[in-house]
Amino acid sequence: MVITQPKPFSEILQFLEGKKNIFITGCSLCATSCMTGGEKEILAMEQKLLEEGKQVTGYAVLDPSCNKLQARATLKKQKQVLDSSDAILCMACGDGAQTVAGLVNVPVYPANDTMFIGEVERIGHFSEACRACGQCELGWTAGICPITRCAKSLLNGPCGGSRNGKCEVNPENDCAWVLIYKRLKELNELDQFMEIKSPKDYSKASNPRRVTVGK
Ligand code: SF4
Ligand code: SF4
Repeated sequence: MVITQPKPFSEILQFLEGKKNIFITGCSLCATSCMTGGEKEILAMEQKLLEEGKQVTGYAVLDPSCNKLQARATLKKQKQVLDSSDAILCMACGDGAQTVAGLVNVPVYPANDTMFIGEVERIGHFSEACRACGQCELGWTAGICPITRCAKSLLNGPCGGSRNGKCEVNPENDCAWVLIYKRLKELNELDQFMEIKSPKDYSKASNPRRVTVGK
């Protein structure tokens, strides 16, 4: 899931300076789960904008915002109201906002900051899990990502700074390589540690990337 958090309202107001009629879009998936762009948060944003003297021309929870086909179909139904809007405030991730921006002829402003790909630990608590490196290593690391969860993205075991199972870079975090070792041991797969891994091919992570499936 793409984890987002709301931008400060003052930053949003700066974007919307001189814009009176605002249409709001949200997202039915990640931003709804993050409580940054579901219907409830959109209605709360509408209220705040009204208090600032803005006019909210309408809103749509895109299903989801990053699906261009779905977003296009939904926004097409709102064409009349979009034509009368000065701006769209997009309460999705950066990808969702870019999708909307590519479909309309009014300025689109992000209401959220996009933080990372991660997991919902419990309501309102998220942790980073994947950096979309383009060559997944989980098959030999017991399902624990060394690229994301090790502060140095090491591939061949821990650095010399790990202490009492904690990371030297941020002692609040567990050392990823201690976790990997323990989990491999539990799974009786410690032989995975015997092979020295080659340097990672980071060319697969060069931006911007495209993927085509089904060919
Ligand atoms: S190894 Fe790469 S693709 Fe796999 S979880 Fe980690 S960052 Fe994501
Ligand atoms: S202490 Fe562990 S998690 Fe932290 S940088 Fe070193 S190997 Fe990575």
